[in-house]
Amino acid sequence: MPIHDYKNPRRASKRPARFRKPGRWILFAFLIYYLGTLWTAEESPEAPTEEIALAQTDTAEVVESDTLQAESERILEPGWTVISGQIGHGESFSETLIDRGVSKTQIFDELKPAIDHIPGRELDLNLVQQGDQYTVELDSLGVIQQFEYVKHGDLERRFLASRLNGTLQARKEEIPLQKEVVVVSGQIDNSMWQALQQSGENPFLVSYKFSSIFEYYIDFAGDCRTGDQFVCAIEKLYDKTGQFVRYGDILTAEYEGEKGSYQAFLFQVPGQKKGYYDATGKSLRGQFLVNPLQNPRTSSRFTNRRFHPILKKYIPHHGIDYAAPRGKPVWATAAGTVSFIGRKSALGNYVEITHKNGYKTGYGHLSRFPRGLRKGSRVSQKQTIGYVGATGRATGPHLHYNFYQRQHGKHRLVNPERVLKKINKPSGKSIPQAYAAHYRQHSQMLMGLLHREHGTIITAALHDLAQPSEAPSEE
Ligand SMILES: [Zn+2]
Repeated sequence: MPIHDYKNPRRASKRPARFRKPGRWILFAFLIYYLGTLWTAEESPEAPTEEIALAQTDTAEVVESDTLQAESERILEPGWTVISGQIGHGESFSETLIDRGVSKTQIFDELKPAIDHIPGRELDLNLVQQGDQYTVELDSLGVIQQFEYVKHGDLERRFLASRLNGTLQARKEEIPLQKEVVVVSGQIDNSMWQALQQSGENPFLVSYKFSSIFEYYIDFAGDCRTGDQFVCAIEKLYDKTGQFVRYGDILTAEYEGEKGSYQAFLFQVPGQKKGYYDATGKSLRGQFLVNPLQNPRTSSRFTNRRFHPILKKYIPHHGIDYAAPRGKPVWATAAGTVSFIGRKSALGNYVEITHKNGYKTGYGHLSRFPRGLRKGSRVSQKQTIGYVGATGRATGPHLHYNFYQRQHGKHRLVNPERVLKKINKPSGKSIPQAYAAHYRQHSQMLMGLLHREHGTIITAALHDLAQPSEAPSEE
């Protein structure tokens, strides 16, 4: 039920494929938001809400409250009417407005062309969805003077149009979100996930973000021990009504475990992507991800003697098994080239990837391969190279992961848990010398947060924490 575009009827009836995606995205955003509200609703009773001023002033806050004030003080001109509501099930935008007395000319000749001029055509009034919110202000002659549109579940942007010198001009506006940083810490009893759940934060999101930081070092499926401690400072974003919208970045994180301790500080070297560095300024990126799956659970480790559940005898198991639901995406643990893809006896559907420095990885029992992946394909790290299954000799869906190292000219199966400790050392790109002093200062400020109590909220000078610098310091 699109707006009937009488100037170009063909365009109105067509539903281009790229517009199907935003719908799914909105759904996803809403889900994240929903989960967020669900988890933040449960507040930890002991959480202190101490506010700490870390630096002088926060200009962003002042600007924001000015805008707020301006908005609430806007007085409607005499004779104007405001139409405001939500798109209902099966309703189209034009029908909704026509029903409420807006003229077709105003909708099709004024509003729609203005909206279509927003760069990227992010709002298509032909493709509105149930729950989208609109507000239209009409003057005494029924002419649209102001327009506002918020897509359902999108708490971060709105579309606006206002009449300037007789023409409606539309724009997209990011809704300013208020940011705070909260310190989240805990002790592993059973799992990271459970510890986070007890902390009152959303365990899905926080553990995903936390484990991604250390994905080259910590095997969250097997290395976590009771008594291990973790702490991080994570951004939380709220709208102006105080509604939690989403998590932002983890600014700093620390894991102190029986099997190793790590610290990470988020820093952006100007002109580069944000990244995590250790206390000495070395990038935490390594060659291989520890795990080929998200939220993995190890079911069989690398061993020379394992009782085989199908063969009913002790044989070596020179790989790692991860129990996972069928269909879960399997990642390439490092960039490389597909050197085998297809059926491989007991391993079922198998993908082998050859990496630089004499390493190969293999992924077995896959249910299927992604379309287009073939021998010789280049793959990037974390690219999906297959889906968990139970093909070959398997009692249930799991991933068998092989890791080969070239020794004396031959590729041999080795225990990745052992060799990765040597391969993945913080090295890679370090902070360039020009920014070293700045990084030291920045990481020290972040390090201070790691010693704060669980639940501490930091609201001041957040841009100093997240965005270290525009220019290198002159030290
Ligand atoms: Zn196996």
